[in-house]
Amino acid sequence: MKVDWLIVGAGFAGSVLAERIASQLHQKVLIVEKRNHIAGNAYDEFDEHGLLVHRYGPHIFHTNAPAIWQYLQQFTQWRSYYHQVLGVVDGQQVPIPFNINSLTALFPHYYAERLTQKLIEKYGFNVKVPILNILENTQDPDLRFLADYVYRNVFEQYTLKQWQLKPEDLAPSVTARVPIYISRDNRYFQDTYQGMPQAGYTALFQKMLENPLIKVLLNTDYREVADEIQYKRMIFTGEIDSYFSYVHGKLPYRSLNFNFIHTQQEQFQSVGTINYPNEYQYTRTTEFKLLTGQRAYGSTYIEEYPQPYVIDENIPYYPIPKEEYRALYRKYLAEAEKIKQKVLFVGRLAEYQYYNMDQVVAHALTVFNKLDV
Ligand code: FAD
Ligand code: UDP
Repeated sequence: MKVDWLIVGAGFAGSVLAERIASQLHQKVLIVEKRNHIAGNAYDEFDEHGLLVHRYGPHIFHTNAPAIWQYLQQFTQWRSYYHQVLGVVDGQQVPIPFNINSLTALFPHYYAERLTQKLIEKYGFNVKVPILNILENTQDPDLRFLADYVYRNVFEQYTLKQWQLKPEDLAPSVTARVPIYISRDNRYFQDTYQGMPQAGYTALFQKMLENPLIKVLLNTDYREVADEIQYKRMIFTGEIDSYFSYVHGKLPYRSLNFNFIHTQQEQFQSVGTINYPNEYQYTRTTEFKLLTGQRAYGSTYIEEYPQPYVIDENIPYYPIPKEEYRALYRKYLAEAEKIKQKVLFVGRLAEYQYYNMDQVVAHALTVFNKLDV
């Protein structure tokens, strides 16, 4: 087989680049994907009860970039959806990110008022402050109490479950994803554009890849076929350390086990996701119909159980944001530089970056715009 581009992986990184190369450059692309479906970790499907579920964990689209939102309009309509998360703290379900409503629910009225006033005086209103910043920079005894309380009850155990590390042993950007929010806005994200693809993510990818210049080969590791395919350049979206046969050692990732549970109940929980920082071995439960808006009898929800990643046994869902691993990644980046005329490395695994979907799309579009073709 003869193509212009061999793309490894049919997730957002591989599919956006395939779509751009075919539609804008009119060149031939072969995507080789080792799973039995397109869409990477964003893949969704109907379960045996007819409920649309996300096989690799809940995916909610959000971005502040008009260009990304605009680009994806071509492939799907969006259902407007604002994700909400409640965390179980001291036996109560309170908004996460932890905000003024959370502390009002947890503390006596007079004390909640005092904490709110002090937070606003120190940081301002409608401001997001990472927990590690508050812990480091707070002398006031009330704010100190609050920071310790939130650290212990919201972040410490959840982070240990998710990463087997304490918050301070990860890059600060990890816990900064879910800051303390000095506001009464209970949404999980405040991005300008938020939503779910009307017919699901897999349908979005089908539309993206429907160009006749794009062929997709599923159930195939690229190593099985790379020798048989004539291609000018490759785009690789899998784990960068695996591409280089682990010459510098293995990059660590975190994996997850998912437990899908179907219930006859019309609705299982009050909001899309409930976080359990302190109870159970799973981190959170997410009820899909609350995200997708699907009307159906019964409901399906998912529990997420963090796991170590073991090559060939489970899936590397999360690169681990920590400087020592970043340093190891840079050794692979140096290898990648040497072959950049032939192979480009793009995406969450290939760049060892804790990217959200919109960041992967943005980065793939940037790579496309810089292609020297
Ligand atoms: P992937 O989707 O991982 O695609 C890479 C593909 O390459 C895979 O399909 C893989 O099978 C294939 N591949 C790898 N090696 C080979 C090989 N040797 N041969 C052939 N194929 C290969 N982002 C958000 O914006 N919002 C969310 O709510 C959100 N929730 C998430 C929840 C979970 C549990 C997880 C794990 C991630 C979540 N994300 C979310 C992040 C999102 O999944 C990623 O940003 C995005 O899917 C990354 O796309 P990608 O193309 O880089 O990688
Ligand atoms: N986090 C936490 N408690 C929570 C929510 C998040 O400790 O209730 C921390 C935890 O370290 C987590 C990180 O913040 O891994 C990022 O959370 P996010 O919800 O963004 O994770 P993702 O959806 O990517 O798994």
